[in-house]
Amino acid sequence: MQQSAPAPVAVPGLTDHHAHLLEVAGLGPPPAGQAVRAFHERVARAGSTPMDVLGPRPTGSGLASRLVAGLARAAAAGLVEITEMGMRGWDYLDALIAAQAAAPLPVRVRIYVASGLAEKASQADLDSRRADCGPWLRLDGVKFYADGWLGPRTCAMCQDFADTGERGLLFIDAAALARRIAPLAARGWRIATHAIGDRAVRTVLDAYDLAWDDDPAATAAAAPRIEHASVLPADLIARMAASGVVAGIQPSFAVTDAGILRPALGLPRSAEAYPWSALAAAGVPMLAGTDYPIEVLEPLVGLARLAAGRSRRPGFASPEAAPPQALLPAAVAFAAMSDPAAGQTLLTADPRAVAPDDIDEIEVLGTSAVPFSA
Ligand SMILES: [Zn+2]
Repeated sequence: MQQSAPAPVAVPGLTDHHAHLLEVAGLGPPPAGQAVRAFHERVARAGSTPMDVLGPRPTGSGLASRLVAGLARAAAAGLVEITEMGMRGWDYLDALIAAQAAAPLPVRVRIYVASGLAEKASQADLDSRRADCGPWLRLDGVKFYADGWLGPRTCAMCQDFADTGERGLLFIDAAALARRIAPLAARGWRIATHAIGDRAVRTVLDAYDLAWDDDPAATAAAAPRIEHASVLPADLIARMAASGVVAGIQPSFAVTDAGILRPALGLPRSAEAYPWSALAAAGVPMLAGTDYPIEVLEPLVGLARLAAGRSRRPGFASPEAAPPQALLPAAVAFAAMSDPAAGQTLLTADPRAVAPDDIDEIEVLGTSAVPFSA
């Protein structure tokens, strides 16, 4: 007797709300073991932020075909939409506009422009670029950057790191960030700011209060984002919930960092890292993104890590599981990484209908992405 293959299941299209896919496709993979801490210290000394450093432009011929190949890889992983979180050159947008004139793109693409690039352009130029993106592309917002990372201990903390006795780096204060945000927000640009340590999250929430005149309704309507929001004491979770600020979370960070939380933060603060279940309970809106190439692009691996604490898929297994506060019910995790308006993903099973440990068994059978406009 032959075993019949399971019927394909169509689910709301899988989305990646924070990736650097265009940058990797354009420039190649980042150099291994790059000195992140030294870079952060250099940027802080210069009074700048990492999103104001534009870095190299993509070179060589065939940029459009390299970008389309990157997007095709995303589609093969089951994605129907990606968000490029911090585009550092207009070359990428121009190449994709040309590519979509020839054929539909494999996934639709939302773009947040790096603060340094956005602020070099005139408002009129920014607005006209936003108006002329075509069916598969959206210029959504501008990305700012408040502190460093947890691994190199450069994220900005309210108390000393347990192991280094330092408090990390804050690249910008609330008043300066608010002054930069306000003119963009007034013209309808969405705002996303990288903040990992609790001092950085507090600073960004202060800046959002200033930028939207302490008006919770106005802030909630603009739905500004905090990218990563990794270390969150209870009062910051409550502030995010009250203001409608969106948390841009990474399904893989809590797994990758499982072994460094206690050395870096000590007890009991390590329980304040990646508190996704408390965010969900407080009603903070959440969008999940990989931060590719920092973490893997495969959305089902991320979903397994969010729902089960780890993926056992060959090639994606990790030494430690995520701490319990970083787990979400599969349906909540799935909602943070999918959008029915973006299309459909065809799977061998609905990940919301299986045990979390069985998400690893699900395979991608295909995708159908929907353009933003016909
Ligand atoms: Zn990122």
